[in-house]
Amino acid sequence: MKEMTGCSAIVLAAGKGSRMKSEVHKQFMLLGGKPVLYYSLHCFQESSLIDEIILVTSEDMIDYCRSEIVEKYSFDKVKKIVGGGKERYDSVYEGLKACSSQGIVCVHDSARPFITEEILKRGIETAESTGACIVGVPAKDTMKLADENNDVDRTIPREKVWIVQTPQIFSYSLLKNAYESARLKGMNGITDDAMVVERETECKVRFSLGSYRNIKITTPEDLIIGEAFLSS
Ligand code: C5P
Repeated sequence: MKEMTGCSAIVLAAGKGSRMKSEVHKQFMLLGGKPVLYYSLHCFQESSLIDEIILVTSEDMIDYCRSEIVEKYSFDKVKKIVGGGKERYDSVYEGLKACSSQGIVCVHDSARPFITEEILKRGIETAESTGACIVGVPAKDTMKLADENNDVDRTIPREKVWIVQTPQIFSYSLLKNAYESARLKGMNGITDDAMVVERETECKVRFSLGSYRNIKITTPEDLIIGEAFLSS
């Protein structure tokens, strides 16, 4: 039986990133001269809170990731590089199956290079006390719901709205069991890991403060913003 301790980070890099309109997938585009994926791996590698990293990428990028990122930058906490799936939730499930530390698991989008040790520490502490935590930031803008005609349906109280980021951090067994039960029913509409826990368990998912810099590189202008963050 595997030990129910330790902390794994699943770093997701199997997406196609079609909104970037580039031949090179966004996690491999250069930011400050290094691939976007480098930055989150570096944060997990340097953190004393993390025991192992599982890197999930597309089958055709496994060799590239191994030689040009993991070996090149000596990320020796990367214990496995596994092939992802069609959807993000398929890639997460492949990552979960590859984990050997089974205490806490942090699921992180490699497209968010500005994760920090402080974000990680706050998130892991929250997940250790509640079982489930998502990193996010309070909304700065007024938020409204639209109806099917794009007319305003209503205004949502802004103080209750958080913008969701990653990492999303859970007790390993809670997340793995939730994914297994959701996969039996079908994963329609699932866009993050918290939704799986919300749907499949009684466990409340608690927010932990991320950072307004913890952006997701999605469209070309995000790379310009990322370069500005790096140089400031
Ligand atoms: O496409 P989106 O920006 O929502 O992807 C979020 C993260 O999930 C990215 O880091 C992407 O590489 C990853 N992903 C994945 N497998 C997929 C789809 C997305 O690992 N099938």
